[in-house]
Amino acid sequence: MEYRVLGCFGGEAPGHGLSSFLLDGTLLIDTGSATAVLDLPSQARIDSVLLTHSHLDHSRGLAHLADNVFGLRRVPVAVYSIEPVLDGLKASLLNNIVWPDFTEIVDAHGPVLTFQSLPEDRPTRLGAFSITPVRVHHTVACVAYLVEREGRALLHIGDTGPTDQVWQVARQARDLRGVVVETSFPSRLQGLAEASGHLTPETLEGELAKLGRDVPVFVYHLKPQFVAEILRELRDRFGSGVRILEQGATYEF
Ligand SMILES: [Zn+2]
Ligand SMILES: [Zn+2]
Repeated sequence: MEYRVLGCFGGEAPGHGLSSFLLDGTLLIDTGSATAVLDLPSQARIDSVLLTHSHLDHSRGLAHLADNVFGLRRVPVAVYSIEPVLDGLKASLLNNIVWPDFTEIVDAHGPVLTFQSLPEDRPTRLGAFSITPVRVHHTVACVAYLVEREGRALLHIGDTGPTDQVWQVARQARDLRGVVVETSFPSRLQGLAEASGHLTPETLEGELAKLGRDVPVFVYHLKPQFVAEILRELRDRFGSGVRILEQGATYEF
């Protein structure tokens, strides 16, 4: 599957886009920088959106995407996550105060968005993809997605501090081609990382020990003000053992 990195940082600044990843042109994981990067026809091609959690740096683009694709599609954009994430978005973002509820706004073909909850820890078929959400450890409900297509798997992990279950899934996944995992802060800010449910290079090392298999690991969600420090630390700690996800790049998994 083709995995295009639209934005991969844990904060927004010029050259640093918020988390958003486009799979095979039609499935979007998180929406942070999607509408800033994709032209309108590409936005209109998105059939499904998977949200890892409700935080603005991952969900904000959904508001703009809904606005932009009004009248451009024949079927709604299907928005998926686990139930608490969707409930949070309805209550706090698409609540007709911060932004209109685009599940109730209809164009000639029906509502602009539909919200559909996914069962945890079980695969759900979405077109050619099979999607399994697995809970991780953040300050709000948040998941990783095991994405499978044509027998190959990719594990995209949302914001998280140290966690266990997702690594069990990673150990067992068939033909796992890559793991995408966050590292938000340098290790000297361990207290802040713990309080905010994020990883540092130090805690990432503990997490990767749980992976226990040889799979390419890609790091993302670096906070822009700490990029140089985190990169230095990752290099010292892992050498070439982890890769940094490159904004604008397309990977084949
Ligand atoms: Zn985030
Ligand atoms: Zn978050």
